[in-house]
Amino acid sequence: TEIKVWKEFDKSRLYMADLESGLHFLLRVELATHKALEGAELKTFKDFVTISAKLFPGRQPVVKLLETLQEWLVSLPLDKIPYDAILDLVNNKMRISGIFLPRKVQWVGCQGSRPELRGYSCSLWKLFHTLTVQAALRPKALLNTGLEDNPQIVLQVMRRYIQHFFGCKACAQHFEEMAKESMDSVKSLDQAVLWLWEKHNVVNNRLAGDLTEDPKFPKVQWPTPDVCPACHEEIKGLHSWNEAQVLQFLKSHYSSDNILYKYTE
Ligand code: FAD
Repeated sequence: TEIKVWKEFDKSRLYMADLESGLHFLLRVELATHKALEGAELKTFKDFVTISAKLFPGRQPVVKLLETLQEWLVSLPLDKIPYDAILDLVNNKMRISGIFLPRKVQWVGCQGSRPELRGYSCSLWKLFHTLTVQAALRPKALLNTGLEDNPQIVLQVMRRYIQHFFGCKACAQHFEEMAKESMDSVKSLDQAVLWLWEKHNVVNNRLAGDLTEDPKFPKVQWPTPDVCPACHEEIKGLHSWNEAQVLQFLKSHYSSDNILYKYTE
């Protein structure tokens, strides 16, 4: 067995190693459990690749891979695509052509104190927070994709991705319930950022003290006062969030300026 050395990291920063490892896991592990994609699954995967190609604030080779994958999916006249064909495309573009996605999992800000904790599910949250923030920062990015003019688009693609592909079925069911209840009320790209933040805190609250909680990373209402003092207020002795400050914080935390490339190959 491999002995993992703990990697020091700054919890106020976002690590590209987590986002890329998440994409690697999604494309090469999670998707691999489906022999072929068709119908609603295929549509969901196509839309996921489209928003990622347009919004992922990544390195050139990775963005190129997402763009290549998107163009290929759009151009294919098939209504059923074998997973192996997707995997071939993800793998066979050599470094030489400047298109690739690193093939290993390297959790940094998503490290767990045991191998079964954190990792992919942490990175998936970070990936979708990043995509909602990028959509709010660059509202024109989805022009001409057929997915523009919809403030809920990233959330809806996330909802469908979780529904069709996320390995944790109980998680998918919980998330679907929250989506059904209030995703409709999202009317702007900024509200989408805040909706996902709020729901993630609902999940944190529900899982606090659960067996799945990493003792080194207790489930808290995030961002905690040490990372964003201005996000917290007290009104008549009760805690309340200053949502304008939270939005500003999220837009900076999940922006490309906050990404560190340490531990990427
Ligand atoms: P995570 O909750 O994964 O958070 C990752 C990072 O995001 C944190 O370290 C922090 O930097 C940041 N963050 C934390 N809170 C917020 C916030 N409110 N807004 C923005 N950023 C934030 N597990 C279950 O056992 N049951 C479930 O029902 C369940 N539902 C899930 C639903 C979805 C859609 C997803 C993606 C995961 C779900 N999980 C569920 C997994 C669970 O939420 C955690 O991902 C997992 O327990 C690992 O926790 P973590 O400590 O890495 O922090």
